[in-house]
Amino acid sequence: MVDVIADEGLLLSVLNSTPVIDGVATDSLADGARARAWLTEAGGAGTDAELRHVLAARDLLQAVVRGQRPADVLAPVLAGATRVPAVRDGQIAWTLSAPPERDLAVRIVLAWDALAKASPGRLRACANEECRLFLVDRTKAGTARWCSMATCGNRMKARRHYQRAAGH
Ligand SMILES: [Zn+2]
Repeated sequence: MVDVIADEGLLLSVLNSTPVIDGVATDSLADGARARAWLTEAGGAGTDAELRHVLAARDLLQAVVRGQRPADVLAPVLAGATRVPAVRDGQIAWTLSAPPERDLAVRIVLAWDALAKASPGRLRACANEECRLFLVDRTKAGTARWCSMATCGNRMKARRHYQRAAGH
């Protein structure tokens, strides 16, 4: 069963698993135990193979959202995946069928696609180049630029202020 709303949280969670903390690029899925816990919480099996596929999908999606790679690079993640319709409670429900170790990676890519179609251009990288987080812009005007106003927004505003004051 593909739950697109729940999977949007999964998508952001995986995209934002490589934060810069105190100026150092980190990877919250690099630690095996933490990564397995993350996988099982996301509905996965927590295997090493599954983690490898999720990390590969993450790296590709980060590059696609940043505009560094075309979406075509995601094709191998989706290879062999199908959606099977069935009638349930009088309605058609679609069940995702993918190789078990790739199921989670496929769900993440499908969540990216659903978000890109429902809210084109709203998923983007934080405008602070030293930040590696992503955001979904939910403002009416589509003007959100920072992962968080409290951190990156204020920092970047302060920097521009100092640069102007210094005549740059
Ligand atoms: Zn940021």
